[in-house]
Amino acid sequence: MPATQHSKKPWALIMAAGRGVRLSAATGGTYKQLLLWRGRPLYWHSALAMSRSAALDGLIFVFPPECLVEEEQRLRKLHKNDDMGLPWIVAAGGERRQDSVRCGLEALPPGTRHVLIHDAARPFVGPALARSVRDGLDRHDAVVPGLPITDTVKTVENSMIRATLPREHLVAVQTPQGFEAGLLRKAHARALECGLTATDDAALMEAAGHDVLVVPGDPNNVKITRAEDLALLADDAKPRPCVGMGYDVHRYGNGRPFILGGVRIPGAPEVVAHSDGDALLHALMDALLGCAGLGDIGQHFPDSDARFENISSAVLLSEVLTLIRRAGIRPTHVDMNIVAQKPRISPWREEIRNNVARLLNLPAGCVNLKAGTEEGLGFTGRGEGIKAGAIVCAFAETSRHPDWENPDREEA
Ligand code: MG
Repeated sequence: MPATQHSKKPWALIMAAGRGVRLSAATGGTYKQLLLWRGRPLYWHSALAMSRSAALDGLIFVFPPECLVEEEQRLRKLHKNDDMGLPWIVAAGGERRQDSVRCGLEALPPGTRHVLIHDAARPFVGPALARSVRDGLDRHDAVVPGLPITDTVKTVENSMIRATLPREHLVAVQTPQGFEAGLLRKAHARALECGLTATDDAALMEAAGHDVLVVPGDPNNVKITRAEDLALLADDAKPRPCVGMGYDVHRYGNGRPFILGGVRIPGAPEVVAHSDGDALLHALMDALLGCAGLGDIGQHFPDSDARFENISSAVLLSEVLTLIRRAGIRPTHVDMNIVAQKPRISPWREEIRNNVARLLNLPAGCVNLKAGTEEGLGFTGRGEGIKAGAIVCAFAETSRHPDWENPDREEA
């Protein structure tokens, strides 16, 4: 074998062509390999894990023929957002799993020496397992991962036990399974001729008289098979902590009466502003929008828009709260900071804090307000304006994670 050809890495077949009925009641009829986990179909996670093994030259996705066009389009969009860095193609599968594998093998680029075959419904596969199977192919024509069986296994007929199998010789085999591609093609052709049906490719190689090496499998490499396995995908339901920050400055001058955190402070300098000039609520709104990844208040309420002239920031805040609630964001804690030489904030601190807590519908203990001066330095020190900052902690419903919610989104 010339060195260049020997150094070529395998291609992987991602077997996503099943129409399994075992799960259809629990999934509402969706083929399990197309189920979304973290906003991506299971087959994508399986392929991504395989691609991270750095042991592949390319991927072939095998789908049911009726899904081929749609899934190819979806793959194009998924690759746009999260490129695997590998060439890939799609192939239409057949009736049984082994027919689909045969179709996938036919789609291999000419000269491909080795192929790894992986079930799309095993999305938890680790890159190390793929590498270990690939490494086994240096010495053997067929390699499968296997796990020792811990249960006692018996054969049963008519509800009666026929035999107890010696456990020390039993393993449960997983995918990816690795093969010399030419030999596997022949084993499949032979099975087709003889009418031989098998649930994995290793069995066809065994039937053709080839030795199959077993390397240690991975207990995490579970196949999503039964309705209870869907619980393994349930991390979508766990809320994800997130944080947002905001900062705002307003200049003093002839303008609006001084309002901070929705509280009117008499005797304080007037504020130049398009809206009511409430620097604290402006910083707070930006922090809330930050939690949701929704930009800033300038985008939502442009000061070129007459509708927002002299508008109460408490009104804008309620609109921001509606926006972030729709995005699945639930604020849990707010810390705010005001820097101003004048007016003195401390007499108003509790009233402002309580008012912000009321506006956010949070306990006052979850809202903090700090205030200080910059010791006469800069524009606040000269009494020319005010600065406000806010940090918001929140929980985000993970199922509405911006990247997970809409995997089909086009690149901006
Ligand atoms: Mg402002």
